[in-house]
Amino acid sequence: MPNRAGLRLMHVHAHPDDESSKGAASTARYVAEGAEVHVVTCTGGERGSVLNPRMDRPDVLENITEIRRAEMDAAREILGITQHWLGFVDSGWPEGDPKPPLPEGCFGLVPLDEAVERLVRLIRSVRPHVVTTYDERGGYPHPDHVRCHEVSVAAFAAAGDPERFPDAGPAWQPAKLYYHHTFNRPRTQALNDAMVAAGLESPYAERLASWKPEPEWDARITTRVECAAYFGVRDQALLAHATQIDPDGAWFAVPLDLAQEVWPTEDYELVVSHVTTELPEDDLFAGIDAPVA
Ligand SMILES: [Zn+2]
Repeated sequence: MPNRAGLRLMHVHAHPDDESSKGAASTARYVAEGAEVHVVTCTGGERGSVLNPRMDRPDVLENITEIRRAEMDAAREILGITQHWLGFVDSGWPEGDPKPPLPEGCFGLVPLDEAVERLVRLIRSVRPHVVTTYDERGGYPHPDHVRCHEVSVAAFAAAGDPERFPDAGPAWQPAKLYYHHTFNRPRTQALNDAMVAAGLESPYAERLASWKPEPEWDARITTRVECAAYFGVRDQALLAHATQIDPDGAWFAVPLDLAQEVWPTEDYELVVSHVTTELPEDDLFAGIDAPVA
């Protein structure tokens, strides 16, 4: 097992639970190998719906902010990460046609530089070598995910520039920036086909039917991190977000051993690199020397 002591990875996510649904198995692997992994959660998830029928109760809805904090604490322990709240308020998922305006004061409406400065301050204090975030579509089009992308990309560039936000700590330039691509279509198709071949009901049939192939988009993946041994840890972290994850839902429909065999990686796109690395990669830290202790 490689020794990652002294290396730091920072994932920037929109809501509590995103750290467990995107990149969680690679996170658990890097933690096991000795890296320090930090998760920044931009909002408190205050406007998330309760997605687990067992938790859809008045007492849960009344205390959703506190409950989601406690869920995050549990997931943090399971993943072995350090977690930071950026302190913004969930924008919610706009429903209706036309969509209603975003609620006042929410993350999606905060001036960009205000959010960027907070993240720059954290980057300069944690000093990560690698930062991950969502692609420009947000991974899925939640306003907080799109905003998380915009804030992360801007903060990645600004953190290393001493002229930007001079009061937010001494400049630190992370070496690499990645986007998550775990929920890509080829993976979904492969898992679907393996379920069908095994005589099991695929949770993806409907999704795939309306999901137009986009080979150019999938070709953006540069980096596949082997982490099948940590899929079980990822599942435990997901289950810790009990209001958001239905244990009988699609998340757990694919048997663990089948998923490990069919698609043993989490996939990323290298977007910016200040170090020399050869593509394709199998490691987010490729090209970065472990600091000498
Ligand atoms: Zn989210």
